Amino acid sequence: MSIPEIEQATPSEIKSFQEEKLREVLHYVSAHSPYYRRLFKQHKINILDIQSLEDLTGIPTTTKDQLQRYNDDFLCVPKSKIIDFVTTSGTLGEPVTIGLTDKDLDRLAYNEAISFACAGIGESDILQLTTTMDRRFMAGLAYFLGVRKLGAGIIRVGAGIPELQWDTIFKFHPSYLIVVPSFLLKLIQYAHANGISLSDSGIKGAICIGEPLRNQDFSLNTLGANIKSHWDIDLYSTYASTEMSTAFTECIAQQGGHQHPELIIVEVLDENENPVPNGKEGELVITTLGVQAMPLIRFKTGDIITAHTDPCICGRNSLRLGPVLGRKKQMIKYKGTTLYPPAMHNALNDFTEVDSFVIEIYYNEIGTDEIRIKLATKKPSNDLLHRIKDHFRSKLRVTPGIEFRPIEEIQKLRLSKLGRKPISVIDLRN
Ligand SMILES: [Zn+2]
Repeated sequence: MSIPEIEQATPSEIKSFQEEKLREVLHYVSAHSPYYRRLFKQHKINILDIQSLEDLTGIPTTTKDQLQRYNDDFLCVPKSKIIDFVTTSGTLGEPVTIGLTDKDLDRLAYNEAISFACAGIGESDILQLTTTMDRRFMAGLAYFLGVRKLGAGIIRVGAGIPELQWDTIFKFHPSYLIVVPSFLLKLIQYAHANGISLSDSGIKGAICIGEPLRNQDFSLNTLGANIKSHWDIDLYSTYASTEMSTAFTECIAQQGGHQHPELIIVEVLDENENPVPNGKEGELVITTLGVQAMPLIRFKTGDIITAHTDPCICGRNSLRLGPVLGRKKQMIKYKGTTLYPPAMHNALNDFTEVDSFVIEIYYNEIGTDEIRIKLATKKPSNDLLHRIKDHFRSKLRVTPGIEFRPIEEIQKLRLSKLGRKPISVIDLRN
């Protein structure tokens, strides 16, 4: 798959191309989206006044709270046109639903195909998918569709089970893994423990999701360097989210994930929603292009990033995003899934046996987020622990570490230093 022409165009050509796409999407949402129609009316916005990317600041941003609260109002097509229903975690406890039409699935396939091609993957490659394809996630399906469109091969092994992963590697000889980087460490450990030769695996590289691999200067971070010291394969970061329905994947230069200008408009904003100067960090705010069911205008991702606009050696002139620096508020990236504490509160509150709890968020030794829930109960048992873990798995799709602790200890932890209301989340990452 060759590089799309627009990505090799000059920055000013890319800008005017995006401005034309912007005008199209504004027409589309003002005709079809109950949410944006209402927003434009309330704020007396005439979309004909929004002609350039700079004019975008005339439209209020959309937050995850709003997407959750008015979820159905974002839908631009009748529900019967939705083919695939996916969910992503919300800030208010309940998940946010994103629907995709047939056309949206084509767009998703195109997005992932050009993203894989960006990392140098071609028709003759076989990819091993080590993440889940079901459980209402978008990513796994996107990878499958992208590989199919690219004409490459895919083996859908799914999450976990290092033994099955290694069996598959030697049986089908994939050239790339699609993987959460910390799972690569598990594969390495398993190989070491079982006499498997990493250098005989035939794996050329890995498309890494969910956890950053690099520092802001694009050198490998602790996690990336740890992987690379054991297993010398090419590591490509890819950054995406369900709301964006778009990936930013590194090219062979590995200097940040490339924007695909035909799919998404990028803004980087400061605390007061003003654009940050070039090369400075800020919150990523996106406008989707070409989405039929649930297009988003100026959606605040909550991710703090830096955009790079200097030309890339790969021939693409599109903007690149550096590794995610952090998250606004208490966003937690846990085992490749984005989580917020209120969802964990809700899950724990479903157990009457749980008397009190605190959620501790910290960085583990490889620099990724860990969650430790300390809880007090009058009847600690393995049965209760399993039921809580199963409940987390079904509600949040991941299970954090859970420990029983005496009620006195929990109560002490819940006393906030400022002596106001009790605290239930202790963020030890800062
Ligand atoms: Zn590049």
